[in-house]
Amino acid sequence: MKQAARQARMDNRIIGFVPTMGALHAGHLALVERAKRECSPVIASIFLNPKQFGPKEDLAKYPRTFDADRDKFSSAGVESLFAPEAAEMYPSDFRTYLNVDGLSDRLEGRSRPGHFRGVTTVVLKLLEIVQPHFAYFGRKDAQQVRLISQMTRDLNLDTDIVVCPIVRDPDGLALSSRNAYLKADERRAATVLHRALIAARDEIHSGTRDALQLHSTLTRVISGEPLAALDYAEIVDANSFEPVTRISRPCYILLAAFLGKTRLIDNLYIEPATPGSEEMVFQL
Ligand code: AMP
Repeated sequence: MKQAARQARMDNRIIGFVPTMGALHAGHLALVERAKRECSPVIASIFLNPKQFGPKEDLAKYPRTFDADRDKFSSAGVESLFAPEAAEMYPSDFRTYLNVDGLSDRLEGRSRPGHFRGVTTVVLKLLEIVQPHFAYFGRKDAQQVRLISQMTRDLNLDTDIVVCPIVRDPDGLALSSRNAYLKADERRAATVLHRALIAARDEIHSGTRDALQLHSTLTRVISGEPLAALDYAEIVDANSFEPVTRISRPCYILLAAFLGKTRLIDNLYIEPATPGSEEMVFQL
């Protein structure tokens, strides 16, 4: 992979990179589509990174669909697929980890201790191997892409991080490889994350800016769904990921909830229509 990437750079080609853990869905393929518009070659990776799963998490049962994934990437126009073995990425004497201070400990990092240390370590390794000009990530994992952008800046990496919109099923559920775990009734109930975000968006649209009030809307909608158990609902500054009391600058509403044993996340991005304006625009 390093040789191919070096050659592409020597040929003055613009490398676009889409890292994934496989079990591909339309959200992953949208990243490839965007990369194809801006780069050639597009390189994708499939690596189910053991270091970002906690000991009680779902690494063992995570869906593995390698042959279908390879075909999907190939039909989507991915020129090279990098799919290393875990032992190749982490030989037994592996010792170096990367941590982004502060940002890694909140929200997803609090619910999943060690998760972001695993994510930033593997993404740094992948970026070092593939040497892309641009790397494409989904806004579905908003905190993850914020951390990765911080890391590339802090470490002066030669890669620009591109954030792409969330792809959803027609009923609003954000696509996720983990949706495959949901039983039929849980799948129906899983739209509650999207419904809660819509309710908050409508409330902001009608003038509410107070975070506590929005928080109670989110918890009311989620607690109305008997199959869902809220992990967290937070309204945070889009840069620091620290809680805000009032929405007046770019913010995220971040949700994590369990549907049975399956943990799902979703978010709504909010920003003033023009800097300083009271009118807000949304990305859901
Ligand atoms: P994963 O395979 O879950 O590690 O995801 C690989 C990339 O796809 C990450 O950048 C995710 O944020 C992105 N992604 C996952 N689900 C979606 C989605 N529904 N819409 C857009 N991007 C997504």
